[in-house]
Amino acid sequence: RGAKRHRLPWLSFAESGAEPAHGQLSLIGEMREALARGEFVLFYQPKVDLQAGRMTSAEALLRWRHPERGMIAPGLFIPFAEQTGFIREITPWLLDQVMGHAAAWRRAGSAVVPSVNLSAHDLLNPGLADQVAELLQRHGLTPDALCLEITESALMEDPTLALTLLDRLSALGVKLSIDDYGSGQASLGYLKTLPVNELKIDRVFVDGVADTPKNAAIVRSTILLCHELGLSVVAEGAETAAELDWLRANGCDLVQGYVLARPMPLEQFLAWQSPVV
Ligand code: C2E
Ligand code: MG
Ligand code: MG
Ligand code: MG
Repeated sequence: RGAKRHRLPWLSFAESGAEPAHGQLSLIGEMREALARGEFVLFYQPKVDLQAGRMTSAEALLRWRHPERGMIAPGLFIPFAEQTGFIREITPWLLDQVMGHAAAWRRAGSAVVPSVNLSAHDLLNPGLADQVAELLQRHGLTPDALCLEITESALMEDPTLALTLLDRLSALGVKLSIDDYGSGQASLGYLKTLPVNELKIDRVFVDGVADTPKNAAIVRSTILLCHELGLSVVAEGAETAAELDWLRANGCDLVQGYVLARPMPLEQFLAWQSPVV
């Protein structure tokens, strides 16, 4: 394999910007091969329900186990996959993998609900609801065994088209979650219109919440707002015991963050025991 074949997205972004077309084509080819060779792997990070005191759901987070570069974080290749449309090949694979895992968890007696991140591109695909329905049936899962996470910024690309899709997914019975809440430019109006079950507060607001009055004000009022609207609230990125205590004391429903667990490979995730929260 020549050096050219190893040009990777983060390199081509960093370079001068010349000759993008050729480089990008070979990168898409490389990602396609990586997918076929099983180099994409899912990690899972627990979402812990503070009331129940245990994990009730978990987020699937993609990594690329590159033969030469080691484990590559999604922030380095997902944007490229979205920009080129290659995400359209990744998402069906992701959904199939995650539903396969969920079905196995159910056979083992666990009711943990996995969530899958959708990209802006996915929200423009009107066929996605049918694909999801077909996969649920193939895996013998009820729709409430799956949660889909959608960011505000992805929603804003084409809100009308996205809403049509979300309505169809919601009608199916799939759980929907707003991701990175507060970091995009979605208006409160969307909270009223969107058929969502859950809202995840962006970690910039959770960071230092116990001793940052402005963050505390934002998180506390978001929790109250969500509860008024019947949404459950996840605090993303809690890293300290002080943050966890604060979130519990202020009625946050679920916590996902390094203080409880990092994203883990499947085997490690299956062996993970929730600490007493
Ligand atoms: P996200 O959906 O908001 O996922 C949460 C990110 O926060 C994950 O980063 C997770 O590892 C990180 N995180 C969780 N707890 C903590 C914490 O306590 N502290 C800190 N500093 N970080 C924490 P990750 O896995 O690198 O993923 C980054 C983003 O890439 C995700 O943000 C999501 O937007 C995207 N992504 C990941 N997997 C997929 C995928 O399968 N499909 C799509 N479309 N996007 C994905
Ligand atoms: Mg997410
Ligand atoms: Mg998030
Ligand atoms: Mg994010």
